[in-house]
Amino acid sequence: MKVRHLEITTMVGCRVACVYCPQDKISHRYFGADRMMRYDDFKTYIEKIPKRVVVHFTGFAEPFLNPRCMDMIEYAARRGHPIYISTTLAGMTREDIRRLSKLAYYEFQIHLPSAEKAMNLAINDKYFSLLSDLVTAGIITDFHFHGNEVHPVVGAWLRQHAADFAQFQIQDRAGNLNTEKVKARMSTPVTTAAKPNGKLRCDRIYQNVLLPNGDVVLCCMDWSAEHVLGNLKRDRFEDLYRSETFRRVLRGLRKPGDDILCRTCTVAQSGAVRDRLKTAIHNVPGIGPLAAQTLSQLRQVTRPLGRFVFHASRASR
Ligand code: SF4
Ligand code: SF4
Repeated sequence: MKVRHLEITTMVGCRVACVYCPQDKISHRYFGADRMMRYDDFKTYIEKIPKRVVVHFTGFAEPFLNPRCMDMIEYAARRGHPIYISTTLAGMTREDIRRLSKLAYYEFQIHLPSAEKAMNLAINDKYFSLLSDLVTAGIITDFHFHGNEVHPVVGAWLRQHAADFAQFQIQDRAGNLNTEKVKARMSTPVTTAAKPNGKLRCDRIYQNVLLPNGDVVLCCMDWSAEHVLGNLKRDRFEDLYRSETFRRVLRGLRKPGDDILCRTCTVAQSGAVRDRLKTAIHNVPGIGPLAAQTLSQLRQVTRPLGRFVFHASRASR
């Protein structure tokens, strides 16, 4: 059975305002009366979600900017959901970390500032004290930053504490990002999708994003709320996948002419059988990447042989 995920946007209007994040899009398209998710609403939503669904505290905002974020995390964990957190530490307190350290995580990611001041985050004693508490708690699964280089002082601190960190490319978020604004502030190139053709696939059709008003949009690329699957104040969780919007996305993945967000997205993968098989082999734990590489080398060796056999059979006629 496919692992399903739901990302919780605990508030709309993230003040961390990373240059590479289309905050303007969601702020303009959001019609809810409350921009901060109410705790009681959160409980209503989560009660509708099967316990096997991985609950992410990330979505379209820094989760800890909602003062009830920690209560929400504990509530979801008590229900038995695997918990995924991605945070910049903005809005987090030392008391939050004390409570966080008592839970287990599917993933716990730290989104680091980059060298190019692309994020509205104070890098001061308070920041390092929180980071230090989290490292001591032993709950972080990965650190990452976006762009060419991590913030130099943060990078030095992490190296000193023997913590590895990954570099993420900046993507145009399926056409939602103002790339000119990024180019003016950062030297990093922005990755855009060459309109993918043919059949497509993407597991993130089952990693939807919940907004404070209960609306659920397709995925973390849907900053303009183009594909609203339903609303968890009104609908059941299963209804999201029976909605006309979800069916339109499924049809659009099969039909290149259909205008769905995935046709402008860098994350979309080829849905051709051969490519799907390649991905499946690559994902076999341990031996997958090597097996995929060997098969691809074998194909390159046997391809000229196939051409020779074909030409030889034509010549003999
Ligand atoms: S990338 Fe995350 S932290 Fe930065 S503005 Fe967007 S939602 Fe906020
Ligand atoms: S292809 Fe892009 S837009 Fe479509 S579901 Fe995947 S991440 Fe979202």
